[in-house]
Amino acid sequence: MISRVIDFCRRVVGGKEQQITSVIARDNHNISRKAISDNALKVLYRLNKAGYQAYLVGGGVRDLLLGLKPKDFDIVTNATPDEIKKLFRNCRLVGRRFRLAHILFGREVIEVATFRGSLTDNPDAARSDEGMLLRDNAYSDSVEEDALRRDFSINALYYNIADYSIIDFAGGMQAIENRRIELIGDPATRYREDPVRMLRAVRFATKLDMDIAPATAAPIQELASLLDDIPAARLFEESLKLFMAGHGLDNFRMLCDYGLFQRLFPSLTPFLSDQRASRFIQLALENTDYRVRNDMKSTPAYLFAALLWPVLDIRAQDILLESGLPSNDAYQIAMNEVLDEQCRHIAIPRRFTTTIREIWTLQTRLDKRAGRRAERLFEHPRFRAAYDFLEMRGEVEGKEIKALAEWWKEYQNVEGAERQRLVAGIFDSKGAKRRKPRKRKPRRKPNNEQ
Ligand code: ATP
Ligand code: MG
Repeated sequence: MISRVIDFCRRVVGGKEQQITSVIARDNHNISRKAISDNALKVLYRLNKAGYQAYLVGGGVRDLLLGLKPKDFDIVTNATPDEIKKLFRNCRLVGRRFRLAHILFGREVIEVATFRGSLTDNPDAARSDEGMLLRDNAYSDSVEEDALRRDFSINALYYNIADYSIIDFAGGMQAIENRRIELIGDPATRYREDPVRMLRAVRFATKLDMDIAPATAAPIQELASLLDDIPAARLFEESLKLFMAGHGLDNFRMLCDYGLFQRLFPSLTPFLSDQRASRFIQLALENTDYRVRNDMKSTPAYLFAALLWPVLDIRAQDILLESGLPSNDAYQIAMNEVLDEQCRHIAIPRRFTTTIREIWTLQTRLDKRAGRRAERLFEHPRFRAAYDFLEMRGEVEGKEIKALAEWWKEYQNVEGAERQRLVAGIFDSKGAKRRKPRKRKPRRKPNNEQ
């Protein structure tokens, strides 16, 4: 079907490579207007009626061709942001350097971008706040230029609202047919322009169940360290897409193979060869994938807490040995160190680091259940997350933690007097039943306070 392309024209890219542009007529592809959101169609038609070019592009076209449901529909046009704004009452222009139009339809936002060009051949050019080369970004009036600055050929297919054809500037149709992730242009140059493309290659390979083409995969290992130059806030956004979208475990494995995970979580690198730590990371990712795929509530805080747990545990033990501080203090210091170090690479927002600390702190408290402590722990807003975490630890950390997790499981399954019986039955680590806590005498105030 795809090979029955009706129009071929040859062109030269960058004076070197030969590229073939194909136009696939409506009858020769499977994208039906019914699968495109009504609002996206409205925007495309209105732009087109006003005399502009208008295309659906990127993930929307790719996913429709693959028979998947697109997450959103992005549109590109030769109209400038101001021209777009004149056409739509419900339009907001966003972005400072490169303005985009957001057309608002209740909850649905259709993003309309003006074509951009052109590829840079100078990998030392200045970088934007996002870590991308600045020359990679300038408005253009050419759809071809817009296509060739995109990352992978499967992401550079344009659905033309004027005649419902698809324009393929970079061999994307063939790549979809061969299930192949391939960069447009010279891979090393494209990674240098924007190193995040290495993460995107992995993400699309797992999400779409495709292979990374050999030439696209080849430079990754050597260039992985370029990720160190990417702002930590952008890497946080990317890490959500990698680990909180249902393919976390697959992404983790592939990122490790390419040496990319090690750049995102350097403090974890020494633990990747440790069986127990790896098993724990794997469990955490499996849990998260399961929850995401089943539309259950999941927070990145839980996953980050789990990924960094082996690092925290060892760090806290070291501090304990070095300083002789009480265990709680050692853990608090270790938490600060581990999170500070991680946030230099991936800027985890404060609302999540707060939860991470709570989950960790509760791990150090869940074995202290005597008196009314169990009740108070149970009422803690993070109890459920901390319990799930403990259960996961039980799978890898041995009998004692497993028994503790089971105790808490039972505690949650019973009520009232049964709970008190459970608390009364707690044995200490030497196997002796815990003594009833002695009633404390009221503390006398020190003399100098009297
Ligand atoms: P998803 O389904 O994950 O949203 P997507 O392909 O739509 O996939 P986006 O991140 O939404 O991915 O980007 C939209 C399009 O913009 C991509 O399809 C690609 O054409 C282009 N693009 C995005 N990021 C880059 C990049 N770093 N370099 C080059 N092109 C990019
Ligand atoms: Mg998208």
